[in-house]
Amino acid sequence: MKVMRLNRVFNKNLNKQKLLLAGGLVLAGGFCYYLNEEAEASDKSKYHGIVIFGAPGSGKGTQSELIVQNFGHVHFSTGDILRAEVRNGTELGKLAKGYMDAGGLVPDNVMIGMISSHIKGPEPKKHGWLLDGMPRTAIQASALDEMGCQPNLVISLNVPDEVLLERICGRREDPVTKKIYHMTFNPPPSDIVGRLTQRSDDTPEKFKVRLQAFHDQSAPIISHYEKQGKVQVLKLDGTKNKNEVFKIISDKLKE
Ligand code: AMP
Repeated sequence: MKVMRLNRVFNKNLNKQKLLLAGGLVLAGGFCYYLNEEAEASDKSKYHGIVIFGAPGSGKGTQSELIVQNFGHVHFSTGDILRAEVRNGTELGKLAKGYMDAGGLVPDNVMIGMISSHIKGPEPKKHGWLLDGMPRTAIQASALDEMGCQPNLVISLNVPDEVLLERICGRREDPVTKKIYHMTFNPPPSDIVGRLTQRSDDTPEKFKVRLQAFHDQSAPIISHYEKQGKVQVLKLDGTKNKNEVFKIISDKLKE
């Protein structure tokens, strides 16, 4: 009897130990997963949240592509997201289209709602995020801070207005491959010229409105981040060729 009772006590203790061990393993596993997640986020760069900033035509899209290829951040171009919404005829697309066609800005509350549904997903958390086209107003910058999406690096591409105008008005897209060409600086192969399209807001008239919006509302964003003192701001000469610009960005991201 005594042996049986002892056995029961022993088994009970063994079960307790097993439970503790299992609990410990779960905790350790969770901790390793957490560390792993953090490690992946900072594997290639300590800069987990990046805003790429500049006027239309400053080269944000080109540099974003290179950052994604080399560092693996998840890229959010608010202009591309909106254009997809317009193409798909969604409610958001219908609402945004008028503002976009006129070269104006889509209202802040719409943009903030839209980006929060994208940027908070598991992929950007894991691989880091690169925001292109947002924030475009001080209200959007503050909203991002409040939702815990403060960048730790802002890349600012500076290009004079007359260069921007030349870049924007010569820009064409191939609707088949989605590749972007420039009629002078990056001419397309002659057999596809006929099918290329121009964005409806890439005309000189619309561009002037977009540029004005940039100077009025977007430029103060750099001082928003500089004032905080927590975010590094990398100011670059965006007239240099794309590889020279990317070399500077890449050196920064490898720090
Ligand atoms: P983009 O391709 O970045 O030049 O954006 C094209 C258009 O989308 C802009 O001219 C705006 O009408 C709209 N848009 C994109 N991002 C934003 C934003 N963050 N805030 C307001 N409007 C935006």
